[in-house]
Amino acid sequence: MRNKIIQNRLEALSSLIGNTPMVGIVYRYKGNEGTIYAKCEHYNYTGSIKDRMALCILYEAYRKKNILPGNQIVEVTSGNTGISLAAIGRSLGHPVSIIMPDWMSKERKDIIRSLGAAIIEVSREQGGFVGGLRIADEMAAADPNIFLPNQFSNNDNVLAHKTSTGVEIATQLQKAGLQPTAFIAGVGTGGTVMGVGKALRMMCYNVHVHPLEPAESPTLTTGYKTGTHRIQGISDEFIPAILKLDQLDDVVQVSDGDAILMAQKLSSTFGMGVGISSGANLIGAIKLQKKYGFDSVVATVFADCNKKYLSTDLMKEEPVKDNYLSPDVELLDFFPIARAR
Ligand code: PMP
Repeated sequence: MRNKIIQNRLEALSSLIGNTPMVGIVYRYKGNEGTIYAKCEHYNYTGSIKDRMALCILYEAYRKKNILPGNQIVEVTSGNTGISLAAIGRSLGHPVSIIMPDWMSKERKDIIRSLGAAIIEVSREQGGFVGGLRIADEMAAADPNIFLPNQFSNNDNVLAHKTSTGVEIATQLQKAGLQPTAFIAGVGTGGTVMGVGKALRMMCYNVHVHPLEPAESPTLTTGYKTGTHRIQGISDEFIPAILKLDQLDDVVQVSDGDAILMAQKLSSTFGMGVGISSGANLIGAIKLQKKYGFDSVVATVFADCNKKYLSTDLMKEEPVKDNYLSPDVELLDFFPIARAR
């Protein structure tokens, strides 16, 4: 594809990514009423927050001449990034290969293939995610026409969320006359929590910014401990290079079963069909209101919708455990917040 066409395509894509709606979610928890502000990222081009990162990384790579028309894009991803890079990469004329753990949902793999990308599956025995990163590096070392977006270490991932997601959240809250107390987001690459945190701190210097991890795989808290969990898209078995825990507040833990129950509740009460990490983020946000007060302004993101989880436990009856928060949460109402532009 010629550069002018790529330029036009990048502009067309940027009109379809970002500027997403935000909702206030009103709930009652053990007699306390609170509101959480959630950015609806399932409204992006391919249905997830990762479109922002994929577009920004490719845009910046063109600007810095790190990618040339026709270069092959190779990335290791648990799914949504693969979907975003496949769609955006193919629409810019690139061959795309996605390396992913073989235990990810069938829907994710099928969607990536349907978007014209190839999938290279990595088993636990081959080293899972970390093994995938090694394969990508080996491929790039052997072929100069391969571009690695490197979402876990590329600061343009943080830039994407600072200049788009974060600025939008700051603008939307400001327009609604709200000053953020805290922001929380589950950590996959850490791009969301780092980037949004930076933008919100420019608006309100003492805002609290909390990363979230699955209680079943507490890698951020322990520095090493990994485990199987069901919140796809977060906690990929290592601490990503772009995540700077020393710049953030405490890590909040959420159980995967609790996240599933909350995502199911959002779907069945409000018709808000979001993914498991969105349920986790809402629970994390409510935990922060327990800490900062039920009148505090806590924002988070709903990273994707429920349609990629049709074959997972999200569609099954989830057993309730004693330490779960969602059984005590009654979802009362939701209301719109004006878009950023
Ligand atoms: N939720 C879902 C569903 C995701 O796909 C991702 C990205 N892997 C995240 C949350 C975490 O976002 P980030 O990579 O910006 O930390």
